[in-house]
Amino acid sequence: MTQASGTRDGLEGVETRLFIGGTWRDADDAGTIDVLDPADGSVLASVADGGTAEAMAALDAAADAQAAWAATPPRERGELLRAAYELVAQRADQFARVISLEMGKPLAEAKGEVTYGNEFLRWFSEEAVRVRGRWMENPVGGSRMLTMKKPVGPCLFITPWNFPLAMGTRKIGPALAAGCTVVIKPASQTPLTMLLLAQVLEEVGVPAGVVNVVTTSSSREVGAALMADPRLRKVSFTGSTEVGRGLIGQSAEHLQRISMELGGNAPFLVFEDADLDAAVEGAMVAKMRNMGEACTAANRFLVHESVAEEFGRRLAERMSGLTVGRGQDDGVDVGPLINAEAVESVGALVSEAVEEGARVLVGGKPAEGPGWFFPPTVLVDVPAEATINRHEIFGPVAPITTFSTEEEAVAAANSSEYGLVAYAYTRDLTRSLRVSEALAFGMVGLNTGIVSNAAAPFGGVKASGFGREGGFEGIEEYLDTTYVAIPL
Ligand code: NAD
Repeated sequence: MTQASGTRDGLEGVETRLFIGGTWRDADDAGTIDVLDPADGSVLASVADGGTAEAMAALDAAADAQAAWAATPPRERGELLRAAYELVAQRADQFARVISLEMGKPLAEAKGEVTYGNEFLRWFSEEAVRVRGRWMENPVGGSRMLTMKKPVGPCLFITPWNFPLAMGTRKIGPALAAGCTVVIKPASQTPLTMLLLAQVLEEVGVPAGVVNVVTTSSSREVGAALMADPRLRKVSFTGSTEVGRGLIGQSAEHLQRISMELGGNAPFLVFEDADLDAAVEGAMVAKMRNMGEACTAANRFLVHESVAEEFGRRLAERMSGLTVGRGQDDGVDVGPLINAEAVESVGALVSEAVEEGARVLVGGKPAEGPGWFFPPTVLVDVPAEATINRHEIFGPVAPITTFSTEEEAVAAANSSEYGLVAYAYTRDLTRSLRVSEALAFGMVGLNTGIVSNAAAPFGGVKASGFGREGGFEGIEEYLDTTYVAIPL
């Protein structure tokens, strides 16, 4: 472990204990987890390492608070979310610094995450009062049908490290709006942001037990213990497909409702009629946001053979102009990856691509020195079947593969087991719609490199999971429907 070198502004006052039933407390055995700065490997803070006993205490608190929270008027629930939104906005700089420190992303991007993540609190503060059932006449007459919506009950949220705030608010916003209480288990690499958010929720007056946070290094045990309890009614998970599959299996025992936001392998299609300037601009965002550590990151660049060379040249030029460094330093565009394994796995995918015939235009090898840095990398002449095209890269590497027809491009895009998001650049309106319809993905970015928006339904198909976060759909994940038959 090296000594901290960067400024730690932002960490003062951030809780490091468990938040259970409205009380901050240490782990029963006083154990802690070190949170590391990915820019140099130094320890930023140590947070409580809760175990299954503490997790069960959190579920007890959530279960105890459930009835009163469900009975709290929707307007009141919405206004608490709105107050939390206002307070996060006021503290946006601190949130951004904490995100940047523990996750590594540049401050400007961390600020972007605060704006985006906070928007879920605002959006669902507005949706809280719009939950409604319906009244319908029986088609054959003689009776009426009434439907009513009810909160599903206590929820477990398991979130990843790549968007420490937004992956939480996407779940907390709709759950609280719907009247559900929650136990949150943030990623152990980036727990501080969620603890800071819990402080905000406490400060604005969210009642004790409605939101509980358990940080732990024993995710598997804690997840399994909570899911083995029938009081838990819902699990929303964002993370890898592998872990998601295990949780789906565990949910079978008590038939808990589940939402799964899993991995992606986004194709980025550039047709011969695309506006290349816009495509390069979009590629930079879709690839480099979060250093490529995003489920939505463009993973496979599929470019028409007539424009591939020009596209590759321009992308390499832009990528080589990026400044790599500590996320909190001025002028940095690309921060470190989350840990040493991430650097190793990205490096291995690049080496394998080269063995399989790819050429490196820029980057290609991990940076020397402390911290977990990988330089922006562009690979051309990547064979369609290359290993890198089949794996989620989760790093700043853009592999370019060519195609010659639209059918070939769509087939290549759909050949992945994943189906989260696809990007397509074309100026032809008919092709835009035809391709959007043909792409087997939950989301399509049409002439844009960014799709995330609190007002839109985010989610995937196939191995990217199911369920939607955000939009009008997001709150449905937290509501059950009761139908009442009424003879008249
Ligand atoms: P991960 O699956 O390793 O971990 C995610 C969370 O699950 C962490 O909190 C971790 O501690 C916990 N966890 C791990 N094993 C567990 C188990 N057996 N039981 C219960 N919890 C367990 O994923 P990660 O490396 O943190 O995140 C990267 C992955 O997340 C990528 O695949 C990425 O595509 C995906 N992701 C998806 C979305 C989306 O919305 N679809 C968004 C962001 C990230």
